[in-house]
Amino acid sequence: MKNYKYIKHKTKKCSICKEALDVMVSTETKEILWDQGNNADPYNNGRCCESCNMQVVLPLRITLWRQNG
Ligand SMILES: [Zn+2]
Repeated sequence: MKNYKYIKHKTKKCSICKEALDVMVSTETKEILWDQGNNADPYNNGRCCESCNMQVVLPLRITLWRQNG
């Protein structure tokens, strides 16, 4: 069961789309569970939001992995 949600970070920005990073917040206690975004490597060496992670970084990782394989 999902007991967290995503809200927008107040200051940190995604290094790919420049939108606010996603912050994972517990829906029960309201505490911040994770606010560091995702590792954008190998796209760049910054952090990225959930949607860029899914749409840009993970496909790139798979592509590079296939090339190396
Ligand atoms: Zn992004």
